Amino acid sequence: AMTDTHPNPKPWIADIHAYVPGKSSAADGQPLVKLSANENPLGCCDAARAALDEQRDPAAYPDPDARVLREAIANRHSLDAARIVCGTGSDELLNLAAQGFAGVGDEVLFSRYSFAVYDIAARRCGATPVEVADADYGADVDAMLAAVSPATKVVFLANPNNPTGSYLARPEVERLHAGLPSDVLFVLDQAYAEYLAQDEDDGGLELAAAHRNVLVTRTFSKIHGLAGERVGWATGAPGLIDTLNRIRGPFNVTQSGQAAATAAIDDADFVERSRAHNAAERARFAERIGALGNYGLRALPSEANFVMVLFEGAVSAADALEAIAGAGYAVRHLPGQGLPHALRITIGTAEQMDTIADTIAALVGSKA
Ligand code: PMP
Repeated sequence: AMTDTHPNPKPWIADIHAYVPGKSSAADGQPLVKLSANENPLGCCDAARAALDEQRDPAAYPDPDARVLREAIANRHSLDAARIVCGTGSDELLNLAAQGFAGVGDEVLFSRYSFAVYDIAARRCGATPVEVADADYGADVDAMLAAVSPATKVVFLANPNNPTGSYLARPEVERLHAGLPSDVLFVLDQAYAEYLAQDEDDGGLELAAAHRNVLVTRTFSKIHGLAGERVGWATGAPGLIDTLNRIRGPFNVTQSGQAAATAAIDDADFVERSRAHNAAERARFAERIGALGNYGLRALPSEANFVMVLFEGAVSAADALEAIAGAGYAVRHLPGQGLPHALRITIGTAEQMDTIADTIAALVGSKA
């Protein structure tokens, strides 16, 4: 029998909170429609679908350097393929960025109410996560710069941000970067960048091309509709890319993931259709929530493929979550992230958004 008389292996993960996935079924066990994971309601493009349906040799390892995919990404974004690394989703690359540049005794900085992986990535490498106060649910550049210490090694910024949808325009992103010591790694997470208005750009790719301390991460999980294939990429200076290459899994992107992503990046029409659908439905949904302002509801401005709704009146977010589940939908409640009063709702089809808005309106009306 095991006894407690010997020292036990002590994992870093002792102080990492387990990832809690959103609910996927109702109380009666019925599956819910997921508007909880920021997936693309239009699916993926036909070319990616066709690439997924091709026969491959499952006994063969994928290309460890994802050469064809990196060339396609480089072409699409006018980048140098040598400055691109692909990952098992951008999640892997965010973790590798922390692991490569921070360790025990170091600090990893990010804004409150930002992507939950940053905290986990910091703790995974033994570093200390430093959560900076937000400015009305968005990143506060002055507060972030004030929080930088000699121990700071990595700064994460999601732009647009998950779960709030907030966005820092280019001058603010540049001001944040300019205020950081040059030996601090600035990781600009652009998972939702393709959802920005067509004339909007935070300048991240240019920063990454021009400076040795900027890493931009992107994903095929959101607008390209390939979340299940787990493909992300990062670009930055050769020294940064070399570090990530040396610590990543050698075969970290599957054959099908590489093929589907390569097909998806060239389908500009699908991306534009997804972007336009999202922008239209996001505006329509935000307007419907805005009309419920008298009941203490507020839709935070969003540049992403979801809207965060605050419930500060008689109806709580938990009440709304339950009513929405009753209507057959899962949305995201994040009480563990300090947001017990909010729901993050992914933009789905027009019909789905009508159902969610109708459900919320009926609930607040009935409690008024
Ligand atoms: N960054 C942000 C801000 C995200 O919201 C997500 C997805 N939840 C990711 C990165 C990671 O996505 P993936 O690993 O699928 O690329």
